[in-house]
Amino acid sequence: MSVTELIERRSRLLGAKAPLFYDKPVHIVRGEGVWLFDADGRRYLDVYNNVPHVGHCHPHVVEALCRQAGKLNVHNRYLDEIILDYAERLTAKFDSSLSMAVFTCTGSEANEVALQMARNWTGGKGVICTNFAYHGNTTAVWELGTVFSGGVSTSPRVRAIPPPDSYRGINGLDGEALADAYADEVKKAIDSLAEAGIKLAGMLVCPIFSAEGLPVVPPGYMAKAVAHVRGAGGLFISDEVQAGFGRTGSHMWGHEVHGVVPDIVTMGKPMGNGHPLAGVVARADILNAFRDRVMYFNTFGGNPVSCAVGMAVLDVLEQEQLMENARDVGIYVIEGLKKLRDRYDLIGDVRGLGLFFGVELVKDRSSKEPATGETGKIVNMMRDRGILMSRIGAYDNVLKMRPPMPFSRENADQLLSALDESLAAV
Ligand code: PMP
Repeated sequence: MSVTELIERRSRLLGAKAPLFYDKPVHIVRGEGVWLFDADGRRYLDVYNNVPHVGHCHPHVVEALCRQAGKLNVHNRYLDEIILDYAERLTAKFDSSLSMAVFTCTGSEANEVALQMARNWTGGKGVICTNFAYHGNTTAVWELGTVFSGGVSTSPRVRAIPPPDSYRGINGLDGEALADAYADEVKKAIDSLAEAGIKLAGMLVCPIFSAEGLPVVPPGYMAKAVAHVRGAGGLFISDEVQAGFGRTGSHMWGHEVHGVVPDIVTMGKPMGNGHPLAGVVARADILNAFRDRVMYFNTFGGNPVSCAVGMAVLDVLEQEQLMENARDVGIYVIEGLKKLRDRYDLIGDVRGLGLFFGVELVKDRSSKEPATGETGKIVNMMRDRGILMSRIGAYDNVLKMRPPMPFSRENADQLLSALDESLAAV
């Protein structure tokens, strides 16, 4: 079936507005490692997808999935070792205070559970999030998803604050003063909720502010923000759906980059390498209090196949030293991107953590006017050159690059030379 026929069929069956990437959509039929293949056999370098964390269709993960699917798959209200083995292995990757788990199928559900836990523990309803964040699609979590509502939340119990951003900043401040200024926004949000008579439940953020544009966070900001939240009786929830599982190259979890320990952590996307596996890890007292009040059950969450897959993902991550690879190749890509910044005025800022990169494009370096149109064009030009990426940020002007973790220096060279060509041609 041709691409045109598929688009027509898709809009008839899924709705014309069902989201689809690129001006010329790609018909992907197969994946392997960092590569995706279309129906005509054309190969694309995947610099976008973090879900196939250890590589598309990794044989060890596929084998674990098939083996367990051929043995047993059932909900988790029977005794079974595999869910316990996985919970033990996963929680061991966190600070010792984060010792218990709840499994779900999506990051949205994990955040939903985290919000319920925080509201149950504190007795409060108020939640602080950031402008232009995304945390999922359930009704409660959607209230925090300011990326689709011009950066503001429409819920009276939510306060969205500016994400910390060293490039755009506040009043030309930098260093500790900038961290203080952004942390003051947390305090203002706490005061605003109090004035409205709404008790604080906590703050839920992505620790690397990925949807917000992957800004460089001023040192010390996160500790100050968390101190304000805890001082007002709230909990800190770290959404590790994008930042977790070694993506940053330096740490297994995004919150560790900032030296803070959350009360609740949520995970998803890379956890199952494409299989729908997500979950929450939390302090035992908070999780037990939640279990006491709520008979939370998730039919597919933590089923034996999901747990076998989750375990296999951790095997590959460890055996192939993919976090170390993210650090090594990440530094290499950043060096290459900085060389491009020196040659193209369109690039206002280059930033990254491990294998997650943001390149902010501006029409003018001093006014920092966002080059939103050019960013969209480059994403499509890259697709035409066989490289898949996307864009993020409040102005949709940050190139978003976040490949599977086995991404190599050779892959990086291909990315950088195609980006060079696209920047020259835009
Ligand atoms: N949190 C973050 C930071 C995300 O990026 C996403 C998905 N883009 C979610 C939560 C929701 O995850 P899911 O789509 O699995 O519900």
